[in-house]
Amino acid sequence: MFKQTFTNLTQLPKQRVRQWLGTFETIICDADGVLWHFNKAIDGAPETFNLLKDSGRRMFIVTNNSSDESNALIKKARTFGIQLNDGHMATSAMSIAYYLANKKFKKKAYIVGEMGIKQELDKFDICSFMVKNEQGDKSMLQMAKEMKIEPDVGAVIVAKDDTFTVQTIIRACAYLLNKQVLFLGTCLDAAYPIGNNRMLVGAGAMIAAIKAISGRKPLILGKPNPLMFSEAINCGLINPETTLMIGDTLKTDILFAHNSGFQSMFVATGVNTVQDVEAARCSGTELGMAMVPDTFLPSLALLQEFV
Ligand SMILES: [Mg+2]
Repeated sequence: MFKQTFTNLTQLPKQRVRQWLGTFETIICDADGVLWHFNKAIDGAPETFNLLKDSGRRMFIVTNNSSDESNALIKKARTFGIQLNDGHMATSAMSIAYYLANKKFKKKAYIVGEMGIKQELDKFDICSFMVKNEQGDKSMLQMAKEMKIEPDVGAVIVAKDDTFTVQTIIRACAYLLNKQVLFLGTCLDAAYPIGNNRMLVGAGAMIAAIKAISGRKPLILGKPNPLMFSEAINCGLINPETTLMIGDTLKTDILFAHNSGFQSMFVATGVNTVQDVEAARCSGTELGMAMVPDTFLPSLALLQEFV
């Protein structure tokens, strides 16, 4: 229903929207930009999440945020009043850890990112390390020549890293020049707008820098890769046909819904705008169309009246 039509639900008869919402057994919400912004809940979003849960639907949060371990993110959701069940949070860090565990990865992983990835890898006894603030007052040439390279590295994992520098790129590329070393990324989100013409730099920009210099192509294991939720589908926990994905970012959330066979709803409380959806629709490309959401509401809170 509504496939890639970007149907504005506020313009439909209420009964029609209720009927549509009634077809979903599982609802997956993105976190940042749908449920909260950094350390503040989005108005009405936790209440809507809880109402959907109380109505008997299975509620999940799936996020490309890899800075915290999944239980810490569940705790964060609960501080906003979101009644999230244990185990109902999936992160890109978990996705990377599962991927390496499935491959029976035995080498060391170099992490460009925050603690969340290390903590998820620790759960599978996968050895990993991070290197922060290594420049000092050396020139780039001197630093590159003197850099000590860890032996036995089998993967470079790149996520959003607040301490990302030229040194990070040199170190990552030193490993990646060996084609046997895996190049894994959390997501392609390049930037997070915070208002007042300011942007935070996302993993996508850091991955792009390392990709440009190493000439290697990364495997992205967060959204939109359907691997992120494939286990829940394969074990029969969720049926894609009765699953709705709600997100604020077209090339992660909406494409993830498309790739996983879920229906999608776009909310304009985060990264992308209605104009971005129109641009995707007018692009005339297959990828552009895959990023056109099925439905739209300005915010998650507006779904409340249809539950
Ligand atoms: Mg988001």
